Amino acid sequence: MEKVRRLTIVVLPLFLALAPAAAPQSFSPAPEVYRALASISADSLRGNLSFIAADLLEGRDTPSRGLDIAALYIAAQFRRAGLEPVGDDGYFQTAKMLRIVPAADGFELRMQSGSRTLTVSREEITVVSLRPLELSGAPVYKIADSGDVRGKVVVLDHPGSAAFQPAAFLEMADDYSAQGVPRLIDADEEWARFGGLPRLIVRDPEAVKLLKEAKAGETGITVSIQLPAPTATPVTVRNVAGLLRGSDSALREQYILVTAHYDHLGLSGGGAVFPGANDDGSGTVSAIEIAQALARLRVHPKRSIVFMTFFGEEEGDLGSRYYTCHPLFPLSKTVADLNLEQVGRTDSRAGPEISNATLTGFQYSTVAHTLQQAGALTGVKVYADPNGDDFFDRSDNQTFAEHGIPAHTIAVAFEFPDYHATGDVWQKIDYGNMAKVDRMIALGIVMLADSPDAPRWNRENPKVGRYVKGR
Ligand SMILES: [Zn+2]
Repeated sequence: MEKVRRLTIVVLPLFLALAPAAAPQSFSPAPEVYRALASISADSLRGNLSFIAADLLEGRDTPSRGLDIAALYIAAQFRRAGLEPVGDDGYFQTAKMLRIVPAADGFELRMQSGSRTLTVSREEITVVSLRPLELSGAPVYKIADSGDVRGKVVVLDHPGSAAFQPAAFLEMADDYSAQGVPRLIDADEEWARFGGLPRLIVRDPEAVKLLKEAKAGETGITVSIQLPAPTATPVTVRNVAGLLRGSDSALREQYILVTAHYDHLGLSGGGAVFPGANDDGSGTVSAIEIAQALARLRVHPKRSIVFMTFFGEEEGDLGSRYYTCHPLFPLSKTVADLNLEQVGRTDSRAGPEISNATLTGFQYSTVAHTLQQAGALTGVKVYADPNGDDFFDRSDNQTFAEHGIPAHTIAVAFEFPDYHATGDVWQKIDYGNMAKVDRMIALGIVMLADSPDAPRWNRENPKVGRYVKGR
């Protein structure tokens, strides 16, 4: 799970979730399904996680050799399960990214609002650009998409021009502590989403305040930018994907994604490993375990199921964004994403979470109700966490939701004591509980895959409007 999302401007009123009525027991899984669920084992999860979160993988930073070794291991486990390789290179979806390193000198950013001038230093900004930029006194135009908590500032180079072409995008970050680390970009995605225009993500608190307080449209602010050409270095990273092909001749053309991110934070400045066992080694080994269980079924579930682990979630959902820009299966035929995160630790800050699981955006779609039914059959209470909606945009499910796909992150504990710390080690995981929760998830996947109706958004919920639009 990512630390803080950029651009959280609007604090939405808490949507108090009401648990749906007790799950009807109309669905009764075949004995073969229960045998498959029984194959999900605490020992197997422990074995896999002791590798994924091992110190030798050095925290699985994006990119790093440790990340690549983890990808190889996941691919080997998908192969062992008998999933179909559906990447461009076996189970790998190869992403050719660019690492952008801004020039060391010559950067300048000045903002002017009335008589006030603000200078933003190089350290207070992340530059996403493949080309140089020179602007002098360009007016700032603020786009505030209704219902969207993200705001963007577009800088115009032709004031008053009707068919304006923005010269650049300014974005506001609200995580002041983040460092201006060089980040990876997918050049195709930058073109698709931003027309290849330079983007500057501003962290300077004064500048962020100024932009946030500016009214939408013409802000009266002007900006001058000197941005020398950055250097771009090619970097290869991988998503790992395997397919369990559906058994129904019609429904197999629809896809349910079961996802997790296999990257983590790498090493601390002092060289200590961030093992990321719960975040998100636990989701990664759960995806493997569920894949191995469901692949045992003589007759596969009706819809196709894609098991996939992503790079770069901790850097801003890079792997899932790469996937949606280069999908292996049509997004229009992708009916749900079940993203697994932090399913291993039961020592939640909210108290012990034994035989419990929750999902973000509980009331956003019909998925939660299905998982509650699966929980009733496997002894797991699937409940609405009062803060669950706040975590909706903090993992890869958000990427799919933005494309209109009902997508949730399933977790046992949103907050746990070693979050993003060196103490997130595999020895602290509750493997028995994780196996139980994984059985619930596996059964939920079967139910979703076999249901005549695909999952759908709860359109009456005002918070899903922006996602329904993506469809
Ligand atoms: Zn995280």
